[in-house]
Parts: sequence; structure tokens; C-alpha cells
Amino acid sequence: MTARPDPLPVSLVPWLDDGYRHIWMPYTQMQTAPPPLAVTATKGSRITLADGRQLIDGIASWWSACHGYNHPHIRDAIVRQAGEMPHVMLAGLANEPAFTLARRLADIAPGDLERVFFSESGSVSVEIAMKMAAQYWRNNGQPGRTKFICFDGAYHGDTIATMAVGDPEDGIHGRFAGLMGGQLHTNLPRDDNSRKRFEAFVTEHADQCAAVILEPLVQGAGGMVFHAPETLKTVRETCDKHGLLLILDEIMTGLGRLGTLFASEQADVQPDIMTLSKSLTGGSLPLAATIASAAVFEAFLSDELDTAFMHGPTFTGNALACAAANASLDLFETEPRLEQVNAIEAHLGTALEPCRGMNGKWGKVRDVRVRGAIGVVEMDTITDMTALRARFVEEGCWIRPFGNIVYLMPAFTIDEEDLARLSGAIVKIIGER
Ligand code: PMP
Repeated sequence: MTARPDPLPVSLVPWLDDGYRHIWMPYTQMQTAPPPLAVTATKGSRITLADGRQLIDGIASWWSACHGYNHPHIRDAIVRQAGEMPHVMLAGLANEPAFTLARRLADIAPGDLERVFFSESGSVSVEIAMKMAAQYWRNNGQPGRTKFICFDGAYHGDTIATMAVGDPEDGIHGRFAGLMGGQLHTNLPRDDNSRKRFEAFVTEHADQCAAVILEPLVQGAGGMVFHAPETLKTVRETCDKHGLLLILDEIMTGLGRLGTLFASEQADVQPDIMTLSKSLTGGSLPLAATIASAAVFEAFLSDELDTAFMHGPTFTGNALACAAANASLDLFETEPRLEQVNAIEAHLGTALEPCRGMNGKWGKVRDVRVRGAIGVVEMDTITDMTALRARFVEEGCWIRPFGNIVYLMPAFTIDEEDLARLSGAIVKIIGER
């Protein structure tokens, strides 16, 4: 047996100790990582641990729990739907929550994005978008257009095709280089020079390319890197010039995180295909959507099955998850989510500022930046990630830095006091010597 740290005492949390011998945790070196914290309950922006401690959640379960945990409106919708029909296959059969959700997403999505294909994770929704784009060209008589132009710093998921359109050098996907390859990586057009380079790159590759894929305005898991709306506009214009489709991955940015319902609104840009997940069910159940424009959808219509979109995950259109998503959309309509995001942005903009220039025991701060409900303290390097994560827990906060990034992406509903405790913890801890 290999050595591993002991989890919490068996007497306190028997299921943790028993299960820890068998579970395989995400992004975790199972030999050396400290055991996870046993959670017994969540509510609002609070996580309750088995030993009775409460943590203030600064990252909303990988940026998904936008209404806070256990919102009664979402919980009630799930309970109601579970009693009637948790799931029925979608091919040939219709369920009300999925059909209603498709209509509602088409109503709020930018421009003429109007056809919704459901899946159960962000990565899969991106793969679906890629397949749609490639088959769009095949159906239009250009089957050679199968490549994707993608950007340094991008993250679109952990499945093989999505890794291939992520940053080629990032810390987590590099080890799978042999599985991927073949996509067209370039830099974002941020200024005159990079715009010219981007234009030349697209000109060179357009005829083998199905689409450009981008996280609009904020590249998230690749390092919380921001770009200006003008960059997004340039990408759209270049796609138009060369007849390329534009896929916007709004899995992280979509549904309010940046203070508008969709990030693309801030650049007045409309994608041909958009992906959503995370906040879609308010972080309650797994669900993702790939939403196509009328023109993309029409390319699949003919008298032949051959041009139909041949994709169908078992749980596509899952009624339980779609009921949760409908309830989540209700909350965007009935509660002041975008105002809450603006208030978080205003708080973080001043509260994290003292970190600028800090150079303490955890490393030197390189940059502090805020956009919407995202606050970022970028370090040169983090000296001891495991200890830093533990230090935040000690301070009563669930803040989980990655790479060289310490960040907050709380629920939009977090109250002022908890938000101030989160930002205060970052300022205090990053300033430690
Ligand atoms: N795209 C973006 C922009 C993401 O942030 C993520 C998840 N962090 C994904 C895709 C993948 O989503 P999932 O983890 O649900 O597969």
C-alpha cells in the first residue's frame, strides 16, 4: 500500500474514511493531498463541515451556485419534478421542462440563437458545438472544414476534443499532448499588431477551419485573463470576413457572472453557437446547453437522415435538471441578480486593491483585477499551494487558488458581510510575511 495522509477520525465521519479508500478525487495527487473536508450541508454562501465549522464559500462550487446553495425556489422545483418524472429519454418523447427551457433560452439568448441541444456537462456541450460546426460545413458541401481556431490561455473542458482547443501549454492538459493536437492555436487580437497577426493566421487556415472558439471577455480556468470587448468584436468581424462560424463558450461567463446576462452583449456580438452550463441550474444539477443560430440549424434540414445531427446523450433533456434550470431562470427574472453582480464588482474593486504590490510568504502579487463577480489576485508563483488553501480554511473561507491565481467568484446572493470577510481574508493572508 502506498502511504497517504489519514482523513478525519473515523468516529467523526465514517463514510469519509471508508469511501476515501475507493474514491478518485478530481485534479488530486491521491498520495500526498490532504483528505477532503467532509461537508454535511450547504445554505446560501455557507458550507457546513462535519466537525461543525462553517466556511464562507468564495467560489460557489466551481462558479455554478449563482443563487447561493439550496435556494428554495430551485429546491421546490426539483422536488416537484422528482415526484412526477425525473427522466424520460428525449428521442421521440417530449418532456415539458426541457421544451419550456428550450423556448426560454431561445428567448433570452443573443440574436437569432434559437435551437437548443441539451447535454449534462460543459465539456460535452462544447464537443457538441464542435461537432455541429463541423457537420454544418459538411452539410454545406465543405467536409474538409474540420479544424478549430482557438486561443492561448483558453479552457473549454477536460474531454479529449475540448482539451485540444484549450491552451496547448497549460499545466493540466499538457501531459495528454499525444492524445490531442491538430487544432489551430493563436493569440487573441488585443492590439494593432496582434490583430494583424490574427488576421493573417485566419487567412492562412480559413479553408480548413469550421469555427473559431472563444470564452468571451474572460478566459477562466486558463488563468482568469480578461480581454476587451473590442477583441471579441475583432474576432467576430474576422470570422465574418472569412465565412467562419464563431462558437462562444459562455459556460463560465454566461447567466450574469460579468454583470450582463451574456458576456457577448458587452461587445454587441452574436455568436453562431453558444454553450452554457454551470449557472444554468443554479449549480444544483448537471446540465448544459449548446444553442445554435437559425442559420446553423437550417443547414441540418433536408429529406435525408444523412444531414441530421447525429448526437444523443442518454440524459439529454433530463427533466429534473431542466426543471431546476427553469427555476433558476425564474430567479434571474424575479430577483435582482445583475444588480447584485454590480455590487460585488464594486466591492471587490476596492477591497482587493490593497493586495497590489504585496510580496509576502505566499508569493509576490503580479496583478489585481476585477470584472463582474470575479475578483483576481494574480501571483508570480504561489510558494505552497496546499498550505495556502489550508490557511484560507483556517480563516473560515472556502477559497481555492489554482496555478498562480487567488480568486473569488461567489454566489451573486452573498451578503455584504460575508463578501467582506472573503476579500478581507485574501488581503490578510496574501499580506502575511
Ligand atoms: N468551458 C468553460 C469556459 C469552463 O469554465 C468549463 C468548466 N470550468 C468548461 C467549459 C467545462 O465544463 P464541465 O466542467 O462542466 O465539463
